[in-house]
Amino acid sequence: MYYEGKYRKKREKRQQRARSRRIFFLALILVVIFIALGMKILELEKELLAVNASLAKIQYTLKEYEESAEEAPAVETPATMTPLPTQTPAAEVQETELPVVTQSPQEASTSRKVYLTFDDGPSVYTAEILDILDEYDVKATFFVLGKDDSASIELIQDIYERGHTVGMHSYSHKYNEIYASKEAFIEDYQKIYTFLRDKVGVESFCYRFPGGSSNTISSIDMMEFADYLEEQRVTYYDWNISSGDGSSTALTVEQLKENVLKDMAGYRTAVVLLHDSGDKRSTVDALPEIIEAILAMEDTEILPIVEDTVPVQHVQRLNE
Ligand SMILES: [Zn+2]
Repeated sequence: MYYEGKYRKKREKRQQRARSRRIFFLALILVVIFIALGMKILELEKELLAVNASLAKIQYTLKEYEESAEEAPAVETPATMTPLPTQTPAAEVQETELPVVTQSPQEASTSRKVYLTFDDGPSVYTAEILDILDEYDVKATFFVLGKDDSASIELIQDIYERGHTVGMHSYSHKYNEIYASKEAFIEDYQKIYTFLRDKVGVESFCYRFPGGSSNTISSIDMMEFADYLEEQRVTYYDWNISSGDGSSTALTVEQLKENVLKDMAGYRTAVVLLHDSGDKRSTVDALPEIIEAILAMEDTEILPIVEDTVPVQHVQRLNE
């Protein structure tokens, strides 16, 4: 009896140990399954994000394609007759978060047009930028401010005479003043327009809103200002590629180059935001490499904005 009891106890202990082991392994297997499932879910989420992004890109590209199809064949329009275009990527975008567009099959054979645009000039770097552009025989667009000193006026004249486009970027560049009311916007617009016309001899046909049409500073609907520009037969241009030099002066040449080039292959029309400003030395340093890399892309040309250039605009009218 004693042995039997002892034996039973031993057997029970053994069974208990076996049970514990089974529970332990079961738990282990469950943990492994949970981890695997978790990883799979993360992976699927990533894929879903990628699918959503491509969907957005496709929609944008389609839109761009439809618009260019609607475009009339190149007609010489008189200097002030640029129609205000109707399209835009609808998303409210910040300088650093722009819609990314991939190439649709129809676009594969189409040439790519790249528009380098420089905001906020003229500056101490304008002459250097102009020399670099000349070196590569490339024309760009300068959205200038109302800098009324003779050196700045000469620089703007130089921009124009060397074949680049002079656009307007407001007179004062003071967001809170320009966007305070429609009257304030009109007053500033007329100042920059007449400044360029009377002092530089240029009747500009294009405008870039300070902060872009999608800026979050203006409490007034930006379309009110866009309507006014349309009445003046002036087209506003935003951008779809940002170098990032507007939000940081600390970017290296490599970072600027990367920002400009990383999504460029996806665009048929790429409007690149750069700055011509005294605190943006690295933009000047990066420019030769940026130009070389763009020119090295297949079927790609760098052009100045002209009156029939399809604009890239961030904000869309509701009734369109
Ligand atoms: Zn600016």
